[in-house]
Amino acid sequence: MKHILLIATGGTIASEQTGSGLAPRLHPQDLLRHVPEAADICILDTIQPFHLDSTNISPAHWLTLTGVIEENYEKYDGFVISHGTDTLAYTAAALSYLIQNTKKPIVLTGAQKPIGESSTDAKTNLLDSLRFACSGDCGIVVVFGGQVIAGTRARKTRTKSYNAFTSINFPEIAAIHDQRIVRYIPFREPTEEPVFYHRLNTNVFLLKLIPGIAQEAFTLAGEFCDGLVIESYGVGGIPDVYLDELDDLIKKGKTIIMATQVTQEGSDIKVYEVGERLKTRYRILETYDMTLEATVAKLMWALGQTEDPAEIRRLFCKSVNYDLLF
Ligand code: ASP
Repeated sequence: MKHILLIATGGTIASEQTGSGLAPRLHPQDLLRHVPEAADICILDTIQPFHLDSTNISPAHWLTLTGVIEENYEKYDGFVISHGTDTLAYTAAALSYLIQNTKKPIVLTGAQKPIGESSTDAKTNLLDSLRFACSGDCGIVVVFGGQVIAGTRARKTRTKSYNAFTSINFPEIAAIHDQRIVRYIPFREPTEEPVFYHRLNTNVFLLKLIPGIAQEAFTLAGEFCDGLVIESYGVGGIPDVYLDELDDLIKKGKTIIMATQVTQEGSDIKVYEVGERLKTRYRILETYDMTLEATVAKLMWALGQTEDPAEIRRLFCKSVNYDLLF
């Protein structure tokens, strides 16, 4: 039998009514009492590094999770992280950059309803995650609602339904129905050794464009951080009124990334004049088909490794855990 470490972090799956809203109260052994079938799937150990609604999870917690997995990497065949759904996609993306080339499965899951409620998706999600963690597969994935999604491709697209997550601009890795795993993407074991990273530069800011943002606000957003993601419109472009501000930010050494507010199909800034000039004149990076969650986490990771602009560019453009097809 495979040996799996369940890393419980809180979220709805572990929540109970408190009289002032749901809050994480259940510890990993309480979760497991609701799924006695887990004992037929694997040998489980548990750990609870923190106990939070995922609204409160920050990059420091991503580093804590990385540390827990690194310390226990040799001892276990796989890892399941139970997590709140609200920021689960950010954590899954961040772990994809912080733990690369893993030959063991690292699965993130959660639920839309607490595990103690009579009608809940929590038990299925937890058992499916344990099954995937024991499948001999590898990589960082989200298992939720019968879907297995690459850690860099998940987005929470529904606030209430059980199929809360969508794989953006990339097929699901696999589906899990009636305890059976059907793989859609061929299994690919990394050829390189696992690498754990320990540094992030969290001085990253996301500016979502809306028509008419003041030029000063644009400058303030950029000056506040080392890396600015501009969530623009369509395939990407920047309004004429911010070109001088952009020029200043680039001269100050800020890393600027152009993203799009449109969920599907990604950016392509060379298409229109409002975008093309960014590529030719400013050599701005763009997200192409990456999710916003992956973009933010990848930028924090890249800026955390180096201050050299060429190296930041190289790290950002390198495909990791299926994040970038372009
Ligand atoms: N607010 C909860 C959390 O993210 C929502 C959930 O888990 O579904 O922790």
